[in-house]
Amino acid sequence: MEKRRIAILGSTGSIGRQALDVISQHRDLFEVELLTAKNSSDLLISQAIEFDANSVVICNEDKYKEVSDALQPHYIKVFAGMQSVCDLVAGDNIDIVLTSMVGFSGLSSTVAAVKAGKTIALANKETLVAAGAIVMELAARHGARILPVDSEHSAIFQCLMGSAGADIEKIHLTASGGPFRTWSREDIAKATRAQALNHPNWSMGSKITIDSATMMNKGLEIIEARWLFGTPGEKIQVVIHPESIIHSMVEYADGSVIAQMGHPDMREAIQFAFSFPQRLPLDNRKLNFAELGSMSFFAPDQERFPALKLAYEALAKGGNMACIMNAANEEAVAAFLQERIGFYDITDVVQDCMAGADFAASPDLDAIFRTNEDTLVMAAEKIARLSGRKSFQQ
Ligand code: MG
Repeated sequence: MEKRRIAILGSTGSIGRQALDVISQHRDLFEVELLTAKNSSDLLISQAIEFDANSVVICNEDKYKEVSDALQPHYIKVFAGMQSVCDLVAGDNIDIVLTSMVGFSGLSSTVAAVKAGKTIALANKETLVAAGAIVMELAARHGARILPVDSEHSAIFQCLMGSAGADIEKIHLTASGGPFRTWSREDIAKATRAQALNHPNWSMGSKITIDSATMMNKGLEIIEARWLFGTPGEKIQVVIHPESIIHSMVEYADGSVIAQMGHPDMREAIQFAFSFPQRLPLDNRKLNFAELGSMSFFAPDQERFPALKLAYEALAKGGNMACIMNAANEEAVAAFLQERIGFYDITDVVQDCMAGADFAASPDLDAIFRTNEDTLVMAAEKIARLSGRKSFQQ
């Protein structure tokens, strides 16, 4: 394998740090070209020095001087702002772009990398949720390969290898069920920030961990799978699998089901996207089936977890509806993390925005950005009203 030169967008987040751990195990095969971070200047500086990055971008322009002063002696180029990320990902010195920034903010740089025909290691699922039709069309036009890093989608992608183009009968998307899997609706309604952040299996950033607790993460993943694999919503079925050993499954016309398994460890999916189609060693925990003994599966409960229903609705409606859903969710999750609203207020805000925002059947990229902005405003107004209630005060 020829050495692959990698850009990590969002290198100080959970996925970014695990990606650097993968790279540190294969320094002969992977090289860090570009690292970007929103705010975490200290970590960005130490990562850039350790991995001898060619350039870095600190998106918060107020921190430019601090990062620049620290990296100048190391001859590492320093830039600031989102536009710099969009410019640098297109550079000839980059083969693979890992998109591991949080939320909709990743869309413009992902589009820039796709237009430059880069291989995308896609960890930013919100990009496909908000603008799946547009991003996939651009990828086809510019010959950009999109390799999933989300563990479920990496699993599906691996289950499809060797299928010789056979049609997918069904995707079985596994979900851990999150921290509230066995809680009653009444208890979930009172769930605190700390309880929602306590995910049983996966170690992830705070936004995705709250999304896992509401199961909106699985809703986003249904839509992500639709765009990555061209599978309609009615063929994507969620199954609760609390052990998180099976990362997802593909069922074919003959009833044969292929599963991909492993202990929950994001580095597996990250490394496979970097090394594809090769497989490399990794210092992770290996499966011992006799020790594991059994695995369990349950149907999801859409009454306690209404996010799933909302995602299927958004997918069926098409146009900018999933973008509306995603924007409302981002604003509501941020408000929940600030302890301004209650747990079920998150999905209530999403539902209200989906009912109230302007629908567009075939939006272009500009319309998607406008939808995102408008929905954030609408959600913020709803949140302000909710957080003013007497009934929610912690
Ligand atoms: Mg996932």
